[in-house]
Amino acid sequence: MSAPTPLVEKRVVGSLTIHAIQSGGQKLDGGAMFGVVPKVLWERRIPADERNRIQLGMRCLLIEHASGLVLVDTGAGNKEDQKFKAMYGIENDGADGRTLLEDGLREIGARPEDVAIVINTHLHFDHAGGNTYRDESGKVRPSFPNARYFVKRGEYDYATHTNERTSASYFERNFMPVVATGRFEFVSREREIVKGIRVVPTPGHTPFHQSVLIDSGGERAFFLGDLCPTHAHLPLPWIMGYDVEPLVTLETKRRILRQAEEEGWLLVFEHDANVAWGRVEHDGKGYRLVGG
Ligand SMILES: [Zn+2]
Repeated sequence: MSAPTPLVEKRVVGSLTIHAIQSGGQKLDGGAMFGVVPKVLWERRIPADERNRIQLGMRCLLIEHASGLVLVDTGAGNKEDQKFKAMYGIENDGADGRTLLEDGLREIGARPEDVAIVINTHLHFDHAGGNTYRDESGKVRPSFPNARYFVKRGEYDYATHTNERTSASYFERNFMPVVATGRFEFVSREREIVKGIRVVPTPGHTPFHQSVLIDSGGERAFFLGDLCPTHAHLPLPWIMGYDVEPLVTLETKRRILRQAEEEGWLLVFEHDANVAWGRVEHDGKGYRLVGG
C-alpha cells in the first residue's frame, strides 16, 4: 500500500504558478461516495477493493502569489491514531513526523512558515486536518504559524454545532487551536482574498462549503473541493451520499459546470487519486473530461 502519486504537479494559470500537492491517500466506501448511483455503474469508473472501498486522494493546491504562498485545504494532518487512519484508509505519513503535504511543500522549496494564507473549502477532517499538527511533545499547534486562515462563518458555526449525522466529520483540534491564536478569519460570501484568488460559495456538500476561483491573465482555474470530488463525479446526479444537501449540490454543480465549460476553466479535483485537473465539455448527454 502506498499513497497516490505524483506528490506534486505544477502548471501555470495566467501569471500564477500553481502546484497540486497530493497530501495522501484515503479509501472510502464506494456506495457512500456515489450516493444513489448503482455499483454496476460506478465501479466501471473507480473499482472497489474487497471491502467495497475506492482509492481516493486528498489533493491540496499551493498558489505562488505576489502576496505570499496561498494554500487551499490541508489534508488529514498527523493527529489521528492508527485505528482511525485504518478505518478511512488514510496514508499520509511524511518524512519528518508531519505529512505528505509538508513533503510536497519541501519539494517545491517552501516551508510551512512561508505559507501566508490558508483557505479551507470546509472543515471536514480530510480537508482541515492539516490546519494543525501534533508536535513531538504532544501539543497541537497551527501548522502554518504565519498564515491567516479563511473559512466561511457559516461553516465554522456548522462545525461547532454538530448533530448525530455531522459530528463524525468535525474535530475541534483541527480548527480551535487556530481560532485561539486569532488567525482564523471568517468570510460570509464571495470575496477576493488576494488579487486574482476568490472564494466562491458552492453549497450542498455542507451548507457553507466554498470553492476557490483563480483568475489571472485571462485564464481561470477552479478548486472544486467536495462539490465534485473526482472526475468520475462530473455527471450531474453523481453526488456523494455524504452531502447534507444533495439537491443543493445538484443546482450548484449545474451552475458551476456550465460556467466552467463556457469559460474554459481548469477544474482541480481534490479527491481524485489520478487526475489532478482538466477542462470539461458537455457532449449533449453530460459533462466529460477533455484533458488539461
Ligand atoms: Zn472531502
